[in-house]
Amino acid sequence: MKTRITILPGDGIGPEVTVEAVRVLQTVAAIHGYRFEFEEHAIGGDAIKRFGSPLPRATLDAALASDAVLLGAVGSPEFDRVPPNQRPEAGLLLLRSALGGYANLRPAIAYSSIAACSPVRTEVASGADILIVRELLGGLYFGEPRGIASDVATNTMRYSVEEIERVARVAFEAARKRRGKVTSVDKANVLETSQLWRQTVIRVSQDYPDVTLEHLYVDACAMHLITNPRRFDVLLTENLFGDILSDEAAVITGSLGMLASASIGGEVGLYEPVHGSAPDIVGQHAANPCGAIASAAMMLRYSFGLEQDASDIETAIQDVLEAGYRTPDIAEGTGGYVVTTSEFGELICQAVAEIADMRHAYHAV
Ligand code: NAD
Repeated sequence: MKTRITILPGDGIGPEVTVEAVRVLQTVAAIHGYRFEFEEHAIGGDAIKRFGSPLPRATLDAALASDAVLLGAVGSPEFDRVPPNQRPEAGLLLLRSALGGYANLRPAIAYSSIAACSPVRTEVASGADILIVRELLGGLYFGEPRGIASDVATNTMRYSVEEIERVARVAFEAARKRRGKVTSVDKANVLETSQLWRQTVIRVSQDYPDVTLEHLYVDACAMHLITNPRRFDVLLTENLFGDILSDEAAVITGSLGMLASASIGGEVGLYEPVHGSAPDIVGQHAANPCGAIASAAMMLRYSFGLEQDASDIETAIQDVLEAGYRTPDIAEGTGGYVVTTSEFGELICQAVAEIADMRHAYHAV
């Protein structure tokens, strides 16, 4: 198997965490005899500075021609004053749109070994295991008309039945493989888009009688997420609500650096940590690579069907945390040893190799 993966390190800590995710993929490939071919391209502020565009043509062409894309992060304070369509983030929105992944999967897992670093009480957060399924190509981020005209600004929240139905199916399918519950998030007491959202989700749910469906208004959901996160299995949301709720879910896990994501449903899967470019810690060897490494695991699962290898990487993350190793963002109050980004990546590679050795020994018996 020879697989082409486009690597887009981007800005800030993006390159620091991406290099560790690539190292883990190379380790998995070496263990199992795969051939991953990596091709690196520019995106975001880095691409603006080098090529004058947040998404150069060469980057887009390479991404579309590859089997999967792994992205670090985009964004930099030096572009804070430029219009939205010329900022680094515009490159990411264009890329997401071009790759066509309409379902953004964001697992939020509160590992008990680092539960103490969450501001949420350990007995509330510990053991929470939520999959957020966020609609990624519709809603306010893409709706037309949009713009600023003198002293009035407009954004449009727009959803079609088709856009809602396809992401709802992803959520119900995922719930079937998990604990069988979908919580659909909307604001149907106020917004027409949410009323259509709710009607459509109810209709789709009839094809999944084995999955329990509940509805929550987004404001109530935000409250339950922090007071009782264990009540959730799969959270299905539109674009903006999902963006906000997944950052809130990061608080339960202890750090934004822990969260991974996969954007699926299009021609090419896009995998990226949930966090941004973290300009406050760039260059300090302090970035947590877990989100990027777990995104690489999701790539193995969703783009290449390598479920066992994906779950080995996830187990390796858990093992390294349980052994007490932490980047600074997850160190406070959890004990253990503080390590650098690359030391953490190396520990994950070692753990992946040990897990593979153990399985090999088990099968040899
Ligand atoms: P951020 O996610 O970059 O950082 C928020 C906080 O979390 C910071 O204190 C940061 O140090 C910490 N943090 C984030 N990731 C971490 C990691 N892996 N390890 C340790 N700590 C981590 O969000 P922000 O500060 O609001 O935004 C910074 C820039 O990133 C902005 O330009 C924003 O537009 C951009 N951004 C990009 C993406 C993306 O590329 N997908 C997402 C969000 C924000």
